[in-house]
Amino acid sequence: MLTGVVIKAYSSYYYLQTGEKITMGTLRGRFKKERFSLLVGDEVEYSLTGEGKGIIENILPRHSMLKRPMVANVDQVMLIFAAVNPDINPALVDRFLVLAESSQLDTIIVINKTDIADIEQVANIATIYRDIGYCLIFTSTKSGEGIAELQSKLCDRITVFAGPSGAGKSSLLNTLQPGLALVTAEVSQKIGRGRHTTRYAELLPLSAGGFVVDTPGFGLTEFSDIDAPELTYYFPELARLAPECRFNTCLHNKEPQCAVKQALAAGKIARDRYESYLYILQEIQESKKGF
Ligand code: GDP
Ligand code: ZN
Repeated sequence: MLTGVVIKAYSSYYYLQTGEKITMGTLRGRFKKERFSLLVGDEVEYSLTGEGKGIIENILPRHSMLKRPMVANVDQVMLIFAAVNPDINPALVDRFLVLAESSQLDTIIVINKTDIADIEQVANIATIYRDIGYCLIFTSTKSGEGIAELQSKLCDRITVFAGPSGAGKSSLLNTLQPGLALVTAEVSQKIGRGRHTTRYAELLPLSAGGFVVDTPGFGLTEFSDIDAPELTYYFPELARLAPECRFNTCLHNKEPQCAVKQALAAGKIARDRYESYLYILQEIQESKKGF
């Protein structure tokens, strides 16, 4: 039996990649009875039934599932921001980080366009995120800075790109592997025209190893799936403090004897981050009111 990754689903056919080879697989009948939905990103065991054809015998356990787009086993998200043009906006960085954390993905923050930015301008912002423990990479598709480092983070993993429009996602993909961005641009165009709205994402294999999801992840920054008490856990530096709060239901807002507010007063956590937390908290609370 062979092991492969589902890189594309087309009606009842699944494109399975094993090394460089692609096999068209179909599911054994018993999976259909169980109404199991096989997703792009799933790892399967299959046997060959002919040249380039196979039958899927086994689906290996999923370690993660991203909902937007629907992809199994995504390992990490590359959050792409431009240092300037459009200027990096910490509140927006925090919104993307919350979505990444709530999807249980490892996160790499990429600050692009260093060729036209004064690094001093973004140094303070970068320090805040480094101190929390996030991995940061500075890149430029014009000077080539950071591209090798980015490449090394992609191999052997399934990565989804995300970030505001204009930050340089397609330029980075194209710099990593010419031709890649073309595929993603066609996809966004099709989605833009309202066709293929229910299409599933595809995995694009990188020649240096690893896969990139062809559609950017969580473009819509809404938090409807998150409950107020959970939000703390998506701010790692607050999550570390929360056990020391007086009340275990503490939302670090109006509650007394709150370890988060004490740390804030002592300058141990960044005020901008705390404000992002409160802002998103309020948004979540407002959105639940109507229900
Ligand atoms: P996307 O919307 O995130 O996919 O962003 P694009 O890749 O389309 O890039 C938006 C604009 O920024 C384009 O005009 C790119 O040429 C430009 N751009 C992308 N990367 C860089 C960079 O590293 N430096 C500079 N100066 N411009 C860049
Ligand atoms: Zn608290």
